Amino acid sequence: RELPGDQRTDGPPRQVLHACYTKVSPSVEVDNPELVVWSESVAGLLDLDPKEFERPDFPLFFSGMSPLIGGLPYAQCYGGHQFGMWAGQLGDGRAITLGEVLNSRGERWELQLKGAGKTPYSRFADGLAVLRSSIREFLCSEAMHSLGVATTRALCLVTTGKSVTRDMFYDGNPKEEPGAIVCRVSQSFLRFGSYQIHATRGKEDLEIVRVLADYTIRHHFPHLENLSKSDSLSFKAEGNGASTVDLTSNKYAAWAVEVAERTALLVAQWQGVGFTHGVLNTDNMSILGLTIDYGPFGFLDAFDPSYTPNTTDLPGRRYCFANQPDVGLWNIAQFTATLSAAQLISNEESNYAMERYGTKFMDEYQSVMTRKLGLPKYNKPLISMLLNNMAVDKVDYTNFFRSLSNIKADLTIPEDQLLVPLKAVLLDIGRERKEAWISWVQSYILELSKSGMADEERKSQMDSVNPKYILRNYLCQSAIDAAEQGDYSEVRRLLKVMERPYDEQEGMEKYARLPPAWAYRPGVCMLSCSS
Ligand code: AMP
Ligand code: MG
Ligand code: MG
Repeated sequence: RELPGDQRTDGPPRQVLHACYTKVSPSVEVDNPELVVWSESVAGLLDLDPKEFERPDFPLFFSGMSPLIGGLPYAQCYGGHQFGMWAGQLGDGRAITLGEVLNSRGERWELQLKGAGKTPYSRFADGLAVLRSSIREFLCSEAMHSLGVATTRALCLVTTGKSVTRDMFYDGNPKEEPGAIVCRVSQSFLRFGSYQIHATRGKEDLEIVRVLADYTIRHHFPHLENLSKSDSLSFKAEGNGASTVDLTSNKYAAWAVEVAERTALLVAQWQGVGFTHGVLNTDNMSILGLTIDYGPFGFLDAFDPSYTPNTTDLPGRRYCFANQPDVGLWNIAQFTATLSAAQLISNEESNYAMERYGTKFMDEYQSVMTRKLGLPKYNKPLISMLLNNMAVDKVDYTNFFRSLSNIKADLTIPEDQLLVPLKAVLLDIGRERKEAWISWVQSYILELSKSGMADEERKSQMDSVNPKYILRNYLCQSAIDAAEQGDYSEVRRLLKVMERPYDEQEGMEKYARLPPAWAYRPGVCMLSCSS
């Protein structure tokens, strides 16, 4: 109620002016909806008793059929840059917030149904979601959380019992797919585009940018509300001296810097676990620095810096793995430009936030890679050489780093034994490439030997940052194929495995395997924005 809302509720798709949201209720039709999977840990965040999930009417609440008592459903207005172009109003076209839950720890969590019917922001689309993409969103939200990467969460996934038409390959052959709804959970679903939209709608709406910024800071960045000079130590520019900005005098500038730094940390973590988002439009950039909107995402299998999981991103590869750090900065630049346009921050403060993005990203990325290799300190040539070797030989990103901790810091190991610990991950290395790898392992061991850390201790530290289990696309696909036949056991099993990505799990070895041949067949694991 603190934010300007739409005068009308529901209604047809339209431009919603001067408002941050529209009251709108779920309108999806259901026919015997079923609970596919739910997350115990998210239920815990909401103080929700596991028994609730056994209630026969549970799927009715979480498909939006039965209203939640005390709920205040709405859809948000936002805009965004899509693939570098300003796209105007987008908004929650199929996401409807049910309300917020205040848990026993005083935390506020927003519950949102994705795929629960049309809103004023649905544009030309149907407001629905299919089982395929809902399984992917559900599993990856929880997998990312367990990997230690900030993300929106997923409470549960229900089928609607109705079918949805999708042209997955844009080949003019639409298919009927089962409809489904994920209940997403986050402290906020605000995105860069939530602020951008108002700055593009003329002078009078610049005030809305300020109101929304105030709201965001009050609820989500309260530590920035009353900065005093005594806080200046932690908020003072350290930078390279190019600019010195006192962030204690402007909470919006302090906020912009914090958003930039959270985003930088997030992207560094993505690079560490080999996650490629696939659609880093500014409407998919969380103001809290969370991974948000799981569409055509993918984890790296064979290391390839130009990997993009999104067929819509070909051939430009704007959102490929190696481009994510730059795209993060580009997106921050759009965000700070919005704050500048609303005269909340100066150009200097805007530049300073971007500078801090760069510094924070480099710090975090170097720290992530140093830990992945178990090195005593960051070593750029060693890491570059490794990534180069991995790209040339198409080495599996996850399994390689997991195996790396088996190397012993022993300078006396004979040359012909050096690659033994990596045998399983350097599968097709020809004789001519062996030398490059031996030479790299020699430099690596030399570097390790400088630390004096025991092999076992280094191994346990490395294994806690190099996951054994990641949500590879082919694993998702197998679970989807079974679920589409009504068997949800594989989705549930995959959730359990992905909840402990850094642990060795007995009997679960097959979930750490490389993609099988079928995964590479044209069309099998192809992903687009069609979901
Ligand atoms: P995305 O590319 O997933 O970030 O989506 C971009 C925009 O399209 C957002 O405003 C979504 O709400 C909207 N959108 C995507 N799929 C649908 C759909 N099936 N129905 C309505 N809106 C959609
Ligand atoms: Mg989106
Ligand atoms: Mg999406």
